[in-house]
Amino acid sequence: MSTQKAVQFSKTGGTEVLEINQIPIPKVGPGLVLIKAAYGGVNYIDTYFRSGLYPTPSLPHTLGSEGAGIVEAVGEGVSKFKPGERVVYYGSGCYSEYIALPEKVISHIPKGLELEQAAAVLLQGLTALTMLRESYEVKKGDTILVHAAAGGTGLVLVQLAKALGATVIATASTDEKLKLAKEHGADHLVNYSGGEEQWVKEVLGLTKDGEGVEAVYDGVGKATFEGDLKVMKRKGSLISFGNASGAVDPFKINRLGDKNLKLLRPRLFGYIATQEEFDHYTQELFGYIEMDQLKVNIHKIYPLEDVAQAHQDLEGRVTTGKLVLKI
Ligand code: NDP
Repeated sequence: MSTQKAVQFSKTGGTEVLEINQIPIPKVGPGLVLIKAAYGGVNYIDTYFRSGLYPTPSLPHTLGSEGAGIVEAVGEGVSKFKPGERVVYYGSGCYSEYIALPEKVISHIPKGLELEQAAAVLLQGLTALTMLRESYEVKKGDTILVHAAAGGTGLVLVQLAKALGATVIATASTDEKLKLAKEHGADHLVNYSGGEEQWVKEVLGLTKDGEGVEAVYDGVGKATFEGDLKVMKRKGSLISFGNASGAVDPFKINRLGDKNLKLLRPRLFGYIATQEEFDHYTQELFGYIEMDQLKVNIHKIYPLEDVAQAHQDLEGRVTTGKLVLKI
């Protein structure tokens, strides 16, 4: 067998552009590890590539940013991995049956963590962890705001922020989603579907003397950005890390001076660029799972053929936690 199934698109657009094609199985060249995928994680970034919000280097493009599976073969010079081992990885093209990747983007899966859980937690977990460690280093006693707190990244942010000693105000669009955030440790719940004026007032009312929060973690983007500036404490940090509601409009940096705010727009890959960084944060992340401080919450496992439905559900705001593809 020399070909495999892969989810691709040849033009950008809605979920109708997604195709399941036969493409060659990659060769396991020097320094590469060939993996037979078992599960792929669905991430919002996959929808940005599909829609054209983020550019792709060429078309057709194979989608998918992370997965988990079994090492099939290793190339010359590979020392960390052996055929038959369970691994989790990130890289471009993970919605496919086989993928060949360099060692530095692959990690062994610890005992006790299922393949589907590993595929569900790697990117969102590392995103949440690196932002809590580096974008704004959360300290015991801080009060922080996490938007879309019942989403995949949101639920990890809530749990890790609690583990680090913060008080967490969680927002979501429905009471069911807020309940889930509470079950994962959120201290205060705000339904932000009533509009900016209302959620801003509620958030400020939950902070000491109405002064605002130390940090906002915002993956919603356009819809919440202006409100974020209002709920920040003097010298607070706004970590704007996504565009679920659309990209944030151009912004005059002078406005940060009103409260000496810090504004960050981090991408995970800038925090795990070196082998050392990837290994460090992956081990820390798995440690929280082993210590039972982080639960992996899978919304649903979709067959690869239902990838369009998975994208529709994620973009349609009907999911909580993580969406996974069975490959
Ligand atoms: P989620 O599971 O959080 O799903 C997105 C959630 O955003 C929805 O469930 C919804 O929750 C909320 N939302 C608010 N407004 C809208 C809207 N107009 N349309 C759709 N959803 C909306 O997704 P992910 O965890 O995969 O990603 C969350 C964010 O994190 C994304 O913006 C993603 O790009 C970003 N991200 C960034 C990374 C980085 O490196 N910078 C890495 C990983 C993720 P509700 O109904 O409660 O409002």
